[in-house]
This record gives sequence, C-alpha cells and structure tokens, in this order.
Amino acid sequence: MADSRTRRAAPTRRRETVGAKRGGSAWAPRFAAALITLVLAVVVFVAVAADSARSPGPNPGGAPDGQGTPAETATATTPAGEPSPTAPPPTATPTAGPDGTVVVTCGDILAPVDKVHRLPADCVPPDLVQLPASASAGGAQYLRREAADALLAMFDAAREDGFELRVNSAYRSYETQAATYNYWVQVNGQAYADRTSARPGHSEHQLGTAADVGARGLFLEDFAGTPEADWLAENAWKFGFVVSYPDGKEHITGYAYEPWHVRYVGRDVAEAVHRSGLTLREYLLQR
Ligand SMILES: [Zn+2]
Repeated sequence: MADSRTRRAAPTRRRETVGAKRGGSAWAPRFAAALITLVLAVVVFVAVAADSARSPGPNPGGAPDGQGTPAETATATTPAGEPSPTAPPPTATPTAGPDGTVVVTCGDILAPVDKVHRLPADCVPPDLVQLPASASAGGAQYLRREAADALLAMFDAAREDGFELRVNSAYRSYETQAATYNYWVQVNGQAYADRTSARPGHSEHQLGTAADVGARGLFLEDFAGTPEADWLAENAWKFGFVVSYPDGKEHITGYAYEPWHVRYVGRDVAEAVHRSGLTLREYLLQR
C-alpha cells in the first residue's frame, strides 16, 4: 500500500507534568533536594493510584494516541520503582497509562499488540534482516531473523504445493505506521481506518514479526478466497505463524478479516493457538 502522506499533528492531550521543580535556595541545597525527592515521591504515588483506579478500556477520545512521551514509555515496565534486571514478561502485570493504553516490552515476540496494548514509540526490534527480493512483492522488506527464516521455509513449502507467495509489507516503523494510519484516515475516514489500520504503536508490524502475504500481484483485499489464502490458513501454524485477524472475530481482535496478515510466534505457540481455536489476541492475553 502506498503511504506517502505524513503530516498531521495529532492534538496532544493533557500532559502529565511530573517534576520540573525549580532549584532550592542556596542556603540549604541538601534540604531542598530531600524535599524535592519527597514531593516527587508523593506525586508519583498519587499518579499511580489515580491510574489504577481508572478503567483500562479503549481510548475514548477520537485523537490517535500512541505518541506517548518517552518518559511515559520508559517507566512502563517497572511500576514499583527499582528496576529489576530480570523482570518478568510485562504481559503479566500490565499497567494502563493515562490514555488507557498499556505499553509492552520491545523485543518480546509474544507481547500482545492491539488497540489497548502498544509498543514504545522508539521501539525498533533487534536483528531485523532484509528478505530476499524473490520473497518480496516490491521494495525492501524486513523481518526479525527468526521470523524471516520461518517465513522463507513457509514460502518454500508453498512453492512445493504450487503456490508462489510474496510479502507485500513486513516490518513497519512507528513513523511509517503513523503515516499509513493517517493516510487511511484521510482516504476512508477515521471509523473505517480504525477497523483496518492500526494506530502507531499498536501495529503488529512494528514487532518485526508480522507480514502481509499476497500472491500473483493481487491487491490484499482480493486475497481472501484464493487457493493461496486457503493454503496459508491451513499451513501457517506449521511454520510458527498465526493469522492474527480471522474471519468473524472482529469483536475480539478489533480488526476486520485479514487473511493475508500473519504473525510469527514460534512453532509451539502457533500450534497451541491453532489447536485452541482461540484468536491470537485471546491466547496471548490469557497466557
Ligand atoms: Zn498486516
């Protein structure tokens, strides 16, 4: 999909102003520092208490969120203060931010990413590799190494069955997703865009493990019902991929049917999801 449009400064909603206390007087710098620390501690405590009392439901406002402040995203995984070097997966104890979204850990291939859970704006996954041109429907496409290897193995298997699959779109940066989403808002309006395109930070494509798979130069919209789409639905799990947005599950996934959109979660999880009959979102959230 062509996304050349970029501009649009989303209205910034209220900014939590924590801190920025200005300097104490010269006569007792230590006392001033201690006082500031105490004030900050109280402010943080009140903010956390207020957040936890708030409903973690979807963002009610119309404005695209996702442009969270770096400070907000940086502290999201350690609500208790001291950074634990071996922190458990963030999915275990998500904390909703002021806008109702939950920031997940960059690099976690099993992080839920949906309309509530989002990646930090500055998250660029590690070990991105470029797919060979033969696997791309056009342009340079990138996936994380493990996902790329699995995808190429899947494409080989498809070829043996007579189907030539290609990647239309794989890794997308936060900025690219912002442009993509804004483009679709301009073309189709926000309500429709929200059914078909993720807001920045909320796209599985930013994980570096998701790919839109097509064939024969078809538009993705025309992929449903093709033998290639059937092949993908039947076989993706064997290679560690899951079709994230199955037919008839929009009320759960938040997105209309996308037979072309697969996400790599590893062989074991993909098989478990396949057997469970759950959507990937349900599976990851109940893990
Ligand atoms: Zn996609």
